[in-house]
Amino acid sequence: MSGRKIHFFLGALPGQSPLQPVESVIGIPPWDEEKKTMRGQAILKQYRQATTRDWRDWRWQMHNRVRSLPKLATLLSGRNLQPESLQATVSAYPLAITPYYLSLIHPENPADPVARQCLPDEKELLFADSFSGDPLQEDAFMPADGLLCRYDDRALALVTRTCATTCRHCNRKRQWKTADPAGFKKRIAGMARYVASRPQIREVILSGGDPLIFDDERLEFILSSFRAVGQVEILRIGSRMPAVLPMRITRSLCKMLKRFRPLWFNTQFNTAAEITPEAARACLMLQEAGIPVSNQSVLLAGVNDSEAALRDLFCGLQKITVRPYYLFHCEPVRGAAHFRTDVKEGIALMERLRTSCSGLALPQYVADLPGTAGKVPLWAASGALKRILDKHQDFFDISQQLD
Ligand code: SF4
Repeated sequence: MSGRKIHFFLGALPGQSPLQPVESVIGIPPWDEEKKTMRGQAILKQYRQATTRDWRDWRWQMHNRVRSLPKLATLLSGRNLQPESLQATVSAYPLAITPYYLSLIHPENPADPVARQCLPDEKELLFADSFSGDPLQEDAFMPADGLLCRYDDRALALVTRTCATTCRHCNRKRQWKTADPAGFKKRIAGMARYVASRPQIREVILSGGDPLIFDDERLEFILSSFRAVGQVEILRIGSRMPAVLPMRITRSLCKMLKRFRPLWFNTQFNTAAEITPEAARACLMLQEAGIPVSNQSVLLAGVNDSEAALRDLFCGLQKITVRPYYLFHCEPVRGAAHFRTDVKEGIALMERLRTSCSGLALPQYVADLPGTAGKVPLWAASGALKRILDKHQDFFDISQQLD
């Protein structure tokens, strides 16, 4: 499958005009799967004695994550990175990128959406005093170490602070410099005890960091601990692995996860460039294990804040049967201000997509608000939708129909 082109995923549905890959819209050479594979091979060559078998091994990818600026500059020699100017940024917000995710960067595109999500940027240090490190006030809603309870019926278990790739727009980047506390099993047991003491909690979501950085055995321990709590009906995993390290989705992982159904899986693709054959295969393996896969994107300036980029992303996800679930408005988080977009522009983009994308491909555009306010659909603020509803008022007037 590795030689197939991304157009396979982005091609037209019957009766539709073909989707234009974003690269061709902005006038740079198309970046197809074959070239990505070649790029991957070029990066692999720089790891002495590593083989393609290593490349497909998630442990090798984790072990060889790019963690330093000199290494990054060597691997991306064509991009003119200036390590000296980025040192302060990575001291504040550490760097980690899997070789796989690095290979998705188009070497000739200065505005590459993958690069923008994972390469450090001096802009991360701007507006440090104007934004909070914890815009959702999560730290105030932790009744047990690592357990976030903002709603009555759900609990979020922050099981680690580590991720395969540090996304520069992350709303938990405040945690990157702190190692996971010792006593893994004790912590999980403490969270499970708290959940058991609150009978109204029916769903537990594993998050972090990325829960899939753990091996299958540890993951199984976490899932068993929460499954053992009688009233917990639903388990959910939030993980970016299908986008940044799809090799983590192995047969043995899927076999183990299958035993914990009903289990839902939410991932985060933010650009069609991340929907590679490897990513598609990872999502398919989860689906074949009976685990529905949904996607939560973030609307990010310079990554996906155009109609073409969002359509490519949403339709690409639909083609690999991953349901676009949420499109989050980027939160006012310290270190990610340069990713923010105007909410009015976000609403206008979704208005345009409403008539040009199938409903199955359209996520809800929401703002996650601080504390217990929760996720608010931003459609409610759409003037254009209100005008359409006003125009068709008769359609809803029950008394008129009953006369
Ligand atoms: S994988 Fe999630 S938690 Fe980790 S850096 Fe990316 S957005 Fe943040």
